[in-house]
Parts: sequence; structure tokens; C-alpha cells
Amino acid sequence: MKVVIVGAGVAGLGIGWRLLQAGAQVTILERGQPAQGATWAAAGMLAVTAELEEAGEPERTFALHSDSLWPGFAAELEQVSGAGIGFVRGGALLLAGDAAQLEALRSRGAVVDGAGARALVPMLAGDIPGGLWAADEARVDNRALGEALTIAFLKAGGNLLPQEAAVTIEERGGAAWVMTPYGRHHADAIVIAAGAWSGLLGDIPITPVKGEMIALMPPASDALPGPVIWGNGVYMVPREQGGEKRLLVGASMQETGFDTSLSSAVRDDLRARAQSLIPTLRHWTLADHWAGLRPKSPDGLPLLGLLRSNIFVAGGQFRNGILLAPAIADLMADMVLGKTKINPAFDPKRFS
Ligand SMILES: Cc1cc2nc3c(=O)[nH]c(=O)nc-3n(C[C@H](O)[C@H](O)[C@H](O)COP(=O)(O)OP(=O)(O)OC[C@H]3O[C@@H](n4cnc5c(N)ncnc54)[C@H](O)[C@@H]3O)c2cc1C
Repeated sequence: MKVVIVGAGVAGLGIGWRLLQAGAQVTILERGQPAQGATWAAAGMLAVTAELEEAGEPERTFALHSDSLWPGFAAELEQVSGAGIGFVRGGALLLAGDAAQLEALRSRGAVVDGAGARALVPMLAGDIPGGLWAADEARVDNRALGEALTIAFLKAGGNLLPQEAAVTIEERGGAAWVMTPYGRHHADAIVIAAGAWSGLLGDIPITPVKGEMIALMPPASDALPGPVIWGNGVYMVPREQGGEKRLLVGASMQETGFDTSLSSAVRDDLRARAQSLIPTLRHWTLADHWAGLRPKSPDGLPLLGLLRSNIFVAGGQFRNGILLAPAIADLMADMVLGKTKINPAFDPKRFS
């Protein structure tokens, strides 16, 4: 079977890798370089506790399933690619702003008081009343993940065509193909995994939601916090790679089309919120500031399945595309190979 995938993000690369392992011939068309979209911009949290508070059952079940796949997925990917991806179940501390919020958090799991929170993260501000301690929450280095997936895809025999954008996707008489500026790519199945840009390729209700993030670098005397920390409208993710320590702070949510310009007001707001939780961050250096586009569907749930004959879509993962990556890779590969049916909650045609 010949499959063409549009987009080399975590979704397209993961699906392509699984399809190759199942014996398909796979080409990925990428308009830029692989894994430089939202996959690069993300914070890498596998935030089943923090992100799924208001999630409905299909999304929660799918996310928990994906979370359970992550240890095996990470180990296999590291082994195949020879590259570390920093998967760790380092926990997440969801801080309460006051006693009432702390009380409300009790229904969601194990709560610690202020002293307990500072035992987990000694640098926290003294007036924090406590928070929810999600000891099993995991994270991954999403940039290393993108690189490792690219290596794994190529090692499995995949054909990756960078700087070749899909312009139109057409189908006639049972045949389907993708037109690019350089030619026509015929396939038995086409998977649109173009992230926030998927809606530009047809009648796919996915829109971009911009997120700006910053990275802070500690002075030599300061250590990174151990777990991910959520509070006061931000999250903070410790990231250590190649001897470099960074605390990623995110993220804004802006529906401003495909604009990825950076705002000093957002930068300062992220930093101020982070400093309200960890006052010593005022001594840390601003090391980076970037923006990315999350792919959002009208109901916030992913679009995973057949769009029209031979043409599939894997998108709309919104804030959880890294978390959902292993489950999406398995599900979409199985669907393309005709081994599984669509989940109605994620049916791309549910809005029509
Ligand atoms: C600031 C921020 C923080 C985030 N934090 C997290 C987090 O902590 N945890 C989590 O789970 N998720 C997080 N997300 C969400 C997550 O990053 C996305 O859901 C996920 O990366 C989407 O993956 P994707 O492969 O669908 O899209 P992308 O990674 O954007 O990849 C799509 C690819 O398609 C290519 N493309 C687009 N159009 C075309 C075309 N016409 N032809 C060829 N190629 C094309 C693009 O160049 C791109 O490489 C975050 C997102 C942002 C922006």
C-alpha cells in the first residue's frame, strides 16, 4: 500500500513510522523542515491531570490510553533512533491560589499543604497554600522527540520530502493524489497531518491558536525545580539537555490567525506570573521567547479518520498533540490499513 502524508510534525511522523512498520510505502511531504511546527514550539507535557479536568469521556479515555503507551513508545523510539527524548514521570504540582481553591483540588487527587508543596519545590513562594500533587504526570523533550521520530521514520525506509508543500489534494474514480509545486504524488491513501494549517487543504474545520512561551536560564547557583508546576495562569516545565538548564514558561492563548509574531507584553506577563510563584526567578536570564500554532477543532476534540474516499485527517489535537502522539500513530495507521473503525467522537465529518 502506498501512503502519502502531508506534514512532518509529531502526528505525521508517528503515523508514518507505524505504517512503515506495518509494511506500507510512505512518503511525507513537508513544506518546511520536519518537526518545526507546533511539535517544536510545545512544552512537552503529557498533562493528563492538568489538561483534562473538563474533558469528556472519549477524550479522557483516549488521552489516558496514550499516556499508558508513552513508556513503551519512548523506549522503542530511543532504541531505534539512538537519540534520547527525555521522557520522565517527574510529576506535576498544580498550585492553589487560596484556601478555597485548595479545597476544590481535593476532589481531583492527593493534595499537599504549603509546607508539602515547598518540600517538593523548595524555591516556591512562602505564601502558597498548597496544591494538587500528580506524582505520575510525565513530560518529554518535544524537540528531541521530533528529531528522534524523523530518524526513526527514515531508518524504517520512509521517504521524507522537506520543502515540498501540498497545494491541493484531489481524488477521482477511486484514485487520489497530492499536487505540489514539483509534481503529483499518487497514493492509495492520503493522510492530512498538517497541524494548524490543515484547514487550508480542504473542508477541514481546524483553526490556529497561537501560544507564546519563554525560557528562563538559572544562575549557576540555582537548580531547576523537579516537577512541572502549574499556577497563576502559567505552567513551568524544567528542561535539561546537553548540560543546558532551562525553565520553560507558557503559554498564551491567542486566536489571531497564522500570525506568530512575538509580544513583549506577553513575554513580561508570563515572566511576572512565574515570578509570583517562584520569586527567585527574577535573577534568572531570559534565554528564549517563541510562538507556535495549536491546531484546534470547533469542539476542541481531535479529528481522526476518513474525510472522504482515500483521504484521512489526523489533526485538531489542540493543547495535547504531544500527549496523544502514540495513540494517534497507532489508531491512524490501523485505520488507513483498514484494521479499525472510526471513533464517532473524533469523526472528522461530525460537523457537517
Ligand atoms: C506553545 C505551545 C505549547 C504546547 N504544549 C503542549 C504540551 O505541553 N503538551 C502537548 O501534548 N501538546 C502541546 N502543544 C500542542 C502540540 O504541540 C500540538 O497539538 C501538536 O504538536 C500538533 O502536532 P502536528 O503534527 O499535528 O502539528 P505540527 O507539529 O504543527 O506539524 C504540522 C506540520 O505540517 C506542515 N505543513 C503544514 N501545511 C503543509 C502543507 N500544505 N504541505 C506540507 N506540509 C505542511 C508544517 O510545516 C508542520 O511541520 C503545545 C502547542 C503550543 C503551540
